[in-house]
Amino acid sequence: MNNTIKFEIDGKIIEAEKGQTIVEAAQANGIYIPTLCNFSGVKPKGCCRMCTIKINNKFMTACTTPVADGMEVENNTEEITDIRKSIIELLFVSGNHFCPACEKSGNCELQALAYRYQMMVPRFPFLFPQKGVDASSPKIVKDQNRCISCKRCIKTIEDEKGRKYFAYKNRGNKLEVVLDEEMAKTMTDEIAQLAMENCPVGSILRKEIGYIQPIGTRKYDKKPIGSEIEV
Ligand code: SF4
Repeated sequence: MNNTIKFEIDGKIIEAEKGQTIVEAAQANGIYIPTLCNFSGVKPKGCCRMCTIKINNKFMTACTTPVADGMEVENNTEEITDIRKSIIELLFVSGNHFCPACEKSGNCELQALAYRYQMMVPRFPFLFPQKGVDASSPKIVKDQNRCISCKRCIKTIEDEKGRKYFAYKNRGNKLEVVLDEEMAKTMTDEIAQLAMENCPVGSILRKEIGYIQPIGTRKYDKKPIGSEIEV
């Protein structure tokens, strides 16, 4: 049985495997579609909308849409670029992002996307919401100011019994991602490190190891986000 599918992204013919998502197929063909909430090994959820694309004049999320024969996808157009840029701007104004003083600067996917999409001054008003910082854990600081509610920590950080360290609390604009108080007490250095790495922004930071890697030498200081995929 032939499992190969052919479709187009911005007029370029792409070959993909049946069952792949558009994000996966694009990546395998050297085409970058930006993502934030999407994470390898985790079921896609389309919650951040960064991977917005257009198919048959309809906006879809590329991380949740499976490939189909003959589909025509718009990805790198002026319209889509502006939508993605506005999503980045909305994320910046709805939290408190202190990039120059953030330990994640240079390793932050949101900051890197803001550079890639050339965000200058957001077109939306800053909300300056009151957000908390939870430093009660012996291993990490959970800073709600920088959280973009992508769920990556909730989905990927668990103990050997599958119990989750992070969970949602409240709803709407009161939504927070909180750390389980009891589990925090026994969190290992390895789990703390993984949580920090899996968070796309600086909302989860390890204690006592700040700035080990100097600013200027970090992942996105060297190459723009997406350049590892693009051919
Ligand atoms: S703490 Fe980080 S990984 Fe967890 S939801 Fe917030 S931004 Fe995403």
